[in-house]
Amino acid sequence: DAYLSAIEAANPAFNAYVSVTPEKARAMAKASDERLAAGKAGALEGIPLGIKDLFATEGDHTQACSHILDGFKPRYESTVSQNLWNDGAVQLGKLNMDEFAMGSSNETSYYGPVVNPWRATGSDEKLVPGGSSGGSAAAVAAHLCAGATATDTGGSIRQPAAFTGTVGIKPTYGRCSRWGIAAFASSLDQAGPIARDVRDCAIMLKSMASTDPKDTTSVDLPVPDYEASLGQSVKGMKIGIPKEYRVDGMPAEVETLWQQGIAWLKDAGAEIVDISLPHTKYALPAYYIVAPAEASSNLARYDGVRYGLRVDGRDIADMYEKTRAAGFGKEVKRRIMIGTYVLSAGYYDAYYIRAQKVRTLIKRDFEQAFHAGVDAILTPATPSSAFAIGDKELAADPVKMYLNDIFTVTVNMAGLPGLSVPAGLDSKGLPLGLQLIGKPFEEETLFNTAHVIE
Ligand code: GLN
Repeated sequence: DAYLSAIEAANPAFNAYVSVTPEKARAMAKASDERLAAGKAGALEGIPLGIKDLFATEGDHTQACSHILDGFKPRYESTVSQNLWNDGAVQLGKLNMDEFAMGSSNETSYYGPVVNPWRATGSDEKLVPGGSSGGSAAAVAAHLCAGATATDTGGSIRQPAAFTGTVGIKPTYGRCSRWGIAAFASSLDQAGPIARDVRDCAIMLKSMASTDPKDTTSVDLPVPDYEASLGQSVKGMKIGIPKEYRVDGMPAEVETLWQQGIAWLKDAGAEIVDISLPHTKYALPAYYIVAPAEASSNLARYDGVRYGLRVDGRDIADMYEKTRAAGFGKEVKRRIMIGTYVLSAGYYDAYYIRAQKVRTLIKRDFEQAFHAGVDAILTPATPSSAFAIGDKELAADPVKMYLNDIFTVTVNMAGLPGLSVPAGLDSKGLPLGLQLIGKPFEEETLFNTAHVIE
């Protein structure tokens, strides 16, 4: 009830929820009370959570914040959300996001932008919460849920976490089932939690992760007790600092924060080593070929026949065209066009195959660093703090917007786990995050190391 009232009072200002589910919340909370009374509490018993609108939740608004899914209410539940309910968590509602998770500012949602609960010191200017999981991050930061589900294809958990002073982890590809999550780029998409601190994130991920016969890319590995490994010494751990992440135009404050993070880990006994990830500079262009290619294929299913919106036409082809023209927003259309182009005969080898080769090289860079004994890699999470909603420069140039993902996309391209932890405020009083990148399926190392920084 406290969370539902907080949402009622604050959501008009932040627009973090696109749908609140009070009846479900109360019924789930009541069932939790009964289990608690019977001494049968789950790991998340009674904990109120928000769910990103990309996850199917049975009978509820599930539209990936797109117009094309108008009125769609699935009859099934995503594996990740079901796992949370199996552990006793309570659903508050569905969270705003960039349309089909395409964006870095939560400004592409059909339901309008999310407002970051943070403001620069002495300013009333409204800032973005980052994207695409902007609703998840803002809701957690504003205490409108105790934790939230999110997804990350190129940074959509870590960048909004960094912009809102929250903790977010993109687990290793395959750690969480993608079943019941609207697909953006299937070889890059992963679900993960956004929460207020590292411990909450660790607890949530343990519930979210599972092997799932309905997603053949989910791995058959036991899920460790991430919380139990928190607080272990980082003494003797090797932390890699990649020189390629020192990019042109990065504010000095971001560099200072990075140095601060290095100092904290050194003080805690970790060994700091300089490393090189030479193909980093190709990650962003390769990502913006691979991700739109997969998106153009995944989004072919929204045709006015199977789900959501239908705009009638003269014949079926005309109906498809009118539905897709009216149903998709500008950024989604841009991705579909880029993706269709790079997959088309004549361009496939030059763009798509080439990007896949670059992807292998990026993966190999990381493998070499880990092979040389590095346990985790420390970088900034984003090249800046949160920017203004409606920033003219970014709106006019999509490539500038894509630069937000410069430190995060490499991790998805390599399938590795990446975590963003708040590490301080910049001179405007806005949160900045540091990113930890780990070996496949070693999320514990990231939680434990982040716990030293937070
Ligand atoms: N900002 C990136 C994009 O727009 C990443 C999005 C995401 O991780 N879902 O593609």
